[in-house]
Amino acid sequence: MKFKDKVVVVTGSTRGIGREIASTFARQGAVAIILGRNAAAAAEVCNDLVQKGLKAENFACDVTNLANVQEIVNKILDKHKSIDILVNNAGITKDNLLVRMSENEWDEVIQVNLRGVFNCTKVVARVMLKVAVKHADAAADLGGLPAGQAGRIINISSIIGIIGNAGQANYAASKAGIIGFTKAVARELASRGITVNAVAPGYIQTDMTARLKESARTQLLENIPLGRLGTAEDVAGVCLFLASPQAGYITGQTFCVDGGMAI
Ligand code: NDP
Repeated sequence: MKFKDKVVVVTGSTRGIGREIASTFARQGAVAIILGRNAAAAAEVCNDLVQKGLKAENFACDVTNLANVQEIVNKILDKHKSIDILVNNAGITKDNLLVRMSENEWDEVIQVNLRGVFNCTKVVARVMLKVAVKHADAAADLGGLPAGQAGRIINISSIIGIIGNAGQANYAASKAGIIGFTKAVARELASRGITVNAVAPGYIQTDMTARLKESARTQLLENIPLGRLGTAEDVAGVCLFLASPQAGYITGQTFCVDGGMAI
């Protein structure tokens, strides 16, 4: 129960990787805050955790809408003193070859995957900074604040943001953008002990990759040294580590969880 009563906000946790990340933290004693645009799906995930005796709450939230993000964070703070961990996981794909890609396909992916990370991080970082200042004041008398104790931000990027992929210029740009954003914000928040890291999954079995044709799947496997697609658990485990006290001295980094694809 390393994360007992820690408040963990996971965007896009109504299914797939986000759902597994939220459940993993809840199993470690955290209060998992389930966010997604689909209110019914968020409630279903939340009820499932609560029925298992775990702590969870749910809100409908569209990460592309800054006012909506602020409103939901205010609601979370009505009940909880702070937000300890933010996992920016919500993401979409709208694949097309560049010459056929519409402005909408470009804009929608950038809006959700990159603007969404900006919106949520901007709002939650303010909350974490306030708590960090209080911690720092209290810790000053004790010789300072141990690094990485005041808040953790974990951004879900993608291996595609590192190696690129034909048909995914919009997605690759958004996920590479997250890596640069992670480094910049890590530098901004480091002096307050808040760490910011990115996780770059390879091909993980979720709804997002279920559309892959069998031939594409076979070809993919040939490029994965570990010889299998990843699971949501593979990604959640790394998030748990990055939020743990053992990772308190790590910031601004990107961790590939890709079975060796990007070696
Ligand atoms: P899914 O499509 O299974 O789930 C996506 C989640 O994002 C859903 O919960 C969805 O909820 C939510 N979401 C989408 N748009 C918004 C929005 N505007 N506001 C709030 N929530 C939103 O995706 P995965 O679980 O596969 O992927 C999760 C993350 O991992 C994504 O960022 C993805 O890019 C990344 N990733 C995935 C890989 C894979 O192989 N699956 C590989 C590398 C990275 P709702 O519809 O209710 O809004």
